[in-house]
Amino acid sequence: MRASQYLIATVKETPSDAEIVSHQLMLRAGLIRKLASGLYTWLPVGLRVLHKVSQIIREEMDKSGAMEVSMPVVQHAELWEESGRWQTMGPELLRFTDRHGRDFCLGPTHEEVITDIVRNEYSSYRQLPATFYQIQTKFRDERRPRFGVMRAREFIMKDAYSFHINQESLDKTYQVMHETYCNIFNRLGLDFRPVIADSGNIGGSTSHEFHVLADSGEDEIVFSSEGDYAANIELAEGILSPPAHVDDNGKHSHEIVDTGAACTIEEVSAFLQTKPECIVKTLIVHAADKTGKRTDELVALLLRGDQELNETKAQNIDGVASPLEFADDDAIESTVGCKVGCLGPYQLALKVVADKSVIDLQNFVCGANQNGKHLINANWDDNCKYDVVADIRKVQEGDGSPDGLGTLQIKRGIEVGHIFQLGKKYSEALKANVLDKNGKAVTMLMGCYGIGVTRVVAACIEQNNDAHGITWPDNIAPFQLIIVQIDAHKSEQVVDVAESLYTTALSLGMEVLLDDRDKKTSPGVKFADSELMGITHRIVVSPRTLADGNVEYKHRKDGEKQMINKESIAEFLSQVASKAGIIRP
Ligand code: ATP
Ligand code: MG
Repeated sequence: MRASQYLIATVKETPSDAEIVSHQLMLRAGLIRKLASGLYTWLPVGLRVLHKVSQIIREEMDKSGAMEVSMPVVQHAELWEESGRWQTMGPELLRFTDRHGRDFCLGPTHEEVITDIVRNEYSSYRQLPATFYQIQTKFRDERRPRFGVMRAREFIMKDAYSFHINQESLDKTYQVMHETYCNIFNRLGLDFRPVIADSGNIGGSTSHEFHVLADSGEDEIVFSSEGDYAANIELAEGILSPPAHVDDNGKHSHEIVDTGAACTIEEVSAFLQTKPECIVKTLIVHAADKTGKRTDELVALLLRGDQELNETKAQNIDGVASPLEFADDDAIESTVGCKVGCLGPYQLALKVVADKSVIDLQNFVCGANQNGKHLINANWDDNCKYDVVADIRKVQEGDGSPDGLGTLQIKRGIEVGHIFQLGKKYSEALKANVLDKNGKAVTMLMGCYGIGVTRVVAACIEQNNDAHGITWPDNIAPFQLIIVQIDAHKSEQVVDVAESLYTTALSLGMEVLLDDRDKKTSPGVKFADSELMGITHRIVVSPRTLADGNVEYKHRKDGEKQMINKESIAEFLSQVASKAGIIRP
């Protein structure tokens, strides 16, 4: 490509609305442009990178045995009604009607469509397992699109779906996908961690997320300092040390004491001269009925005073509304009879869920369910009670790792992939059956596997940048080589050498950008652009070095400038080409 006839849409200033480095650099390097909130055009330079990332994903998916398909973005409502999601999906699902008044949506994901294909095309267990994938546009009307393509409304996902006759087969494919994802993210040169993820109320370690480590990440991930344990903070477990002070004098009898206006854990702790870890904190949320529907009834959640609630864990508990809904002050006052700040598990006529951190407490402090009063020396067998014990605590850095190896560390991550065992959720609803070896119809089991392809590009930039721009890993840089010609209007030799290098590099199979822009583009701008776009190898052809018979070479990331004699450039280029992994026979 010749820069004079190519869209180099670089921008010098950092766009004010871009908060994170990848978003800034994607705009500045001319990879993307915003059309509207969460909607982006991929410009030529950006699209080259996107295609390379897609190709790596495609190659690894093909290697895993998955079959590529392409499903429509527009989907009709009937399928979504069959799965039940037409009713349950919120406003993320963009719905519309066609000219005949029929309901449609833009696909945020494709479980329904692929299940429909498989139920029609497959009839026997002999045809299973089968995995399909596509690399395709998704639309989700995100509440808060932000960070450019990181959380967009329209984005590209690699989504895959597998179908099985039994759990053993699903487990096997799940493992293959886990390995495939590791291969993909390794090939992309990313520093990533697979972590156990929340699988809603399905439970078990049937879901993993793949996170790229970056401070700008929206998620918190937790991992052991010494073992393999790694989990999303939403469901991470940790071993908590007991409170530092233990009362050896046995259990005392409780007493109700005036605590005045002290309401928060800090205030009560200061007022009663007690450590927060010896106080039981009580939170009141809405209950759910047997079908999972939120009700007006309330449930109390108990935590040690120095601990925080993990809302995801709490809402996954049977009988607790999901999404979690805290009761308002009026509801609490009319049900319990006191204000927030004096709540406790003392003679409380609500269902009480106790976090594991509170059940071993002795002679603790808690609210007395009377305004301005707390209990001291409270004990579980002395008018305080709980009904269910659960882990509803948010882990903290330094907790013991649940595998017993080391302590927990917390870092931020960008979720670039997600693998999930769906079981029969969609196949049952859509009656996707095959005949087993006894000729009996059985419902298939399913797995689903997603990668945010456009998000991967942004995540990669979060990990690969410096003060001058993007420092792509070699295999996804938009071009492998840039030839920058300087002062061509002053020297014909510059043009001759640059053109001949360009032809040689092309014949070696390299992806080359020849920066032949005229004198209106200064040398400084050309250098800055090449670094901003992160083109791996750079050769500068200028009258100054040609006077000594040389051109100048530099690697974007690690290279010092190096003079190469123009007679040996062809050979040098073929070395560069072979380093870049392009070797022509
Ligand atoms: P998130 O928690 O980030 O919203 P999700 O759980 O909704 O993700 P999945 O439905 O599992 O995501 O989608 C698979 C992958 O698609 C995610 O791992 C992520 O990389 C990507 N993805 C999801 N939503 C977006 C979005 N709005 N913009 C860009 N990529 C996205
Ligand atoms: Mg989402």
